[in-house]
Amino acid sequence: MRWTMGKVTVTKVVELEMAGGSRFLLPQATPEAVREIDWLVPHFADESGKLRMSIHALIIETPDRRILVDTCLGNDKQGRRIPHWNARQGTFLEDLAAAGYPVESIDTVLCTHLHVDHVGWNTRLQDGRWVPTFPKARYVFGAREFAFWSNPESGEEPQRAVFADSVQPIVEAGLAELVEADHQLCPEVRLVPSFGHTPGHVSVLISSEGEEALITGDIAHHPCQLARPQWSSTADSDPEQAVATRHAVFGGLAGKPVLVIGTHFAGPSAGRVTRDGEGYRLLVCW
Ligand SMILES: [Zn+2]
Repeated sequence: MRWTMGKVTVTKVVELEMAGGSRFLLPQATPEAVREIDWLVPHFADESGKLRMSIHALIIETPDRRILVDTCLGNDKQGRRIPHWNARQGTFLEDLAAAGYPVESIDTVLCTHLHVDHVGWNTRLQDGRWVPTFPKARYVFGAREFAFWSNPESGEEPQRAVFADSVQPIVEAGLAELVEADHQLCPEVRLVPSFGHTPGHVSVLISSEGEEALITGDIAHHPCQLARPQWSSTADSDPEQAVATRHAVFGGLAGKPVLVIGTHFAGPSAGRVTRDGEGYRLLVCW
């Protein structure tokens, strides 16, 4: 799937799509509660109220940059809490190449935050060692996010393993670049601070020739959180701040011609935001 804003394209490459099984993440999204949000069917939920979600990467191509946003789960990783996220043998890199982006062609990797499903392909296993998957890329991490997860006091054991196999090897290879949460990557791409899901979480704003798009990151895992901004994910590090961020971001976008591209939104994955009662609604754009 590919979207165009002026001279910029954004391409989605899916690693994994899931139906159901998301209750651990969004406990308030019971089938009954989801069925009340009728616009989620068919793209984001089925008739029974089961949520559909996706783990995918987004490649921003500008006239002179190829920026890979979020690197999914990766292959061969160990110690992941969710069994099918462990020791995966998926075809993500082949799919990325088939979409026109072989690993050597990526000049920038950007992680919206440092959770397990956003850093996995930062590295791959080669001769028993974790090496950078994208050898010609600078890997951009938010300084505030990096400071939190690199502190041995932060996070639980599974997250320590994630940092050790998917972030630390990038630092050791000298490819990491720590930036402020409002960093401008290039004329068309800028980070937007959107803290709450994690302490240094960022979203990504794209502007070209008067057209704009926002890549959410995990400020919302699922479009049901537009309808119900108060539904926090169990993965939100500061649920109160996460709710405030959803209102600030989606309230700010409501009624504007900005394409919102969700980092875990399934199917069409993108749309425009409008106000709907106490919350918001995603008007799907293909
Ligand atoms: Zn995520």
